[in-house]
Amino acid sequence: MRDILKKIINILTFTDLPVRKKFLLFSLGSLFWLAVISAIGLITMFDMSAKSKQMVDVIGPQEKTVNIIVRKLRGASISAHKIVLYKNTERVNNNYLSGKARLEDCRSYLKILLTGGRIKDYSRGTGQFYNEFIVVPVKSAEKRKFIEDVIVKVDRLEGILAEMAEKKFGSTNGDAMLEKLSEYDLLTRDTVTVLNEFAITTGKEWGTFTSIIKTRFNIAIILISLAFGIAAMLSGVFGVLISRSLAKPIKAIIGQIKALSSGEMDLTKKLDVASKDELGMLSSEFNRLMDTIEHVTSFKKIIEEDESIEDIYMRLGKIFIEDLGFDNCVMYEVSNSKNNMKIVYPPEAEGIELHCKRDIQLDCELCRVKRTGHMVSSADYSNICKYYTEGVNDIHYCVPIMIGGNVGGVVQFVCGKRGVCDIDDIKKKISRAKQYITDAQPVLEAKRLMKTLKESAFKDALTGLYNRRFLEESFENLVAGALRRGTTLGLLMCDLDFFKQTNDVYGHDVGDMVLKEAANNIRKNVRTSDLVIRFGGEEFLVLLIDTKPGDSFDVAEKIRERIEESKVKIAGGFIQKTISIGVSEFPTDTQNFWEAIKFADVALYKAKERGRNKVLRFAMDMWAEEKY
Ligand code: GH3
Ligand code: MG
Ligand code: MG
Repeated sequence: MRDILKKIINILTFTDLPVRKKFLLFSLGSLFWLAVISAIGLITMFDMSAKSKQMVDVIGPQEKTVNIIVRKLRGASISAHKIVLYKNTERVNNNYLSGKARLEDCRSYLKILLTGGRIKDYSRGTGQFYNEFIVVPVKSAEKRKFIEDVIVKVDRLEGILAEMAEKKFGSTNGDAMLEKLSEYDLLTRDTVTVLNEFAITTGKEWGTFTSIIKTRFNIAIILISLAFGIAAMLSGVFGVLISRSLAKPIKAIIGQIKALSSGEMDLTKKLDVASKDELGMLSSEFNRLMDTIEHVTSFKKIIEEDESIEDIYMRLGKIFIEDLGFDNCVMYEVSNSKNNMKIVYPPEAEGIELHCKRDIQLDCELCRVKRTGHMVSSADYSNICKYYTEGVNDIHYCVPIMIGGNVGGVVQFVCGKRGVCDIDDIKKKISRAKQYITDAQPVLEAKRLMKTLKESAFKDALTGLYNRRFLEESFENLVAGALRRGTTLGLLMCDLDFFKQTNDVYGHDVGDMVLKEAANNIRKNVRTSDLVIRFGGEEFLVLLIDTKPGDSFDVAEKIRERIEESKVKIAGGFIQKTISIGVSEFPTDTQNFWEAIKFADVALYKAKERGRNKVLRFAMDMWAEEKY
């Protein structure tokens, strides 16, 4: 039920319409009600004007005409009395003529009432002009009958007046004259009575019109008030609902932005998208923005906690392929000190299809991105990079990873063929990928710095071998590994013979060269998985991982031979040195790792004692012989 109500309110308040349409419809609604109110007003005004025109043009002139006729009858009646009163023939005659003229006026006015026409009112006594107006023919049958009746009566009055004038100086006596006069008066009264009835009927008509006008006027006032009330109510309700539907999401967005800027925002909390208009779109876009921010911040947090730099490359690659939907991605790590670049993603670079010539891996300056520090794309210029080996129609994007102001890596995306793939879509994906790369850059930089620091802390600068600290850090893992696998760890303690002499005779620099050469020789003669450690000044400890018991001696002997054979070139000739090696094995000789080192050292001491340039396998009696 609530849902239905909500839906109805949504439709009525145009929730899903664009804001512009909302206001357009709102104005149209207001305009409609304004039109209704104006229409009622106009209709009433026209109606009242028609009615009042009827009153002014029809009824008014009729009344006026009747009044004039009554005035004229009264005048004629005075003339009749004067005929009886006067003795002078001329005066009698004059009065007869003026009475007759007045009665003729009455007749002509009555006829105009029937036919319609212009009435000009003059005084018969003074000749003064009184009034002039138009009369429309009387339509009502009742009133026409009154008029015809009055015309007959006026004819008769005229007859009586003529008789009176004629009889005045004849044989008739005074009584007969008076009798005629009273007949005349009686008929005049009669005529006036009929005219009064005409006037009463007209008055009634007047009353009807006024009451109609009054009623219509009242109805119009009620209708206009009603329409105005409805319009005010609707505009109030709609105004409140529409403004609320606009203000609510805006307020919510402002609240979220405030929370975001003060850092208190829960990024997973979403805005309620209640409409499909611009504000709804704004809310969902804002939610998407929050999603992106959340994704980016969680991505940064995750890679910060990743253990190694390789893990970060892996994670980036996974996002590019799985989240952003790239078909492929190759990441190169640039080594500025070695001037090369190596593939770090995909993890197994063997067998993957490479789009760049191998040369760039050996000389990173050949890579256009590395050289320029800018993104290189064939979207706008095909053949932009001559080390890109695939077809000219390929669209590829190579994005730099900037580390400490230099190009520390390159990410390559091959997106498809020109004309086939959707460039806009690709550009969007690339810009998102660049965002991830930008976010990863500081973390990659920190991790690479850590890696170099760690390496320098564990490595000897002169020979590049691991140092004693490295052994102290990693021996537990080595021991645990050997014990877990049940294998043997061979320990070779090597010491150059009479090295002090070399320093003394040729100088310290030559001594350093000899040391470096010896270190290289040892490294070359063991497996890459074995560890060579510069244990002291000219002492090296070799840890042979996973050897068979007894094999360590042979490896040591091989090293001794190689050193003996090796010639170090110096100015004016070369130097040959020998080495003595003491061999022990863990856990064969002892369960204690440091003791095994000690045993190798004891064996070395014995080798020196027995003439140097020798390999000696530790034996327990060596330990018993000496008091260490
Ligand atoms: P032996 O081992 O055969 O008994 O004789 P030795 O002359 O090698 O004996 P010793 O251990 O007394 O001398 C080691 C010399 O190595 C002493 C030191 O001057 C030199 N040495 C140690 N570290 C370095 C280094 O980094 N560079 C150079 N040039 N010499 C070093
Ligand atoms: Mg020595
Ligand atoms: Mg020594």
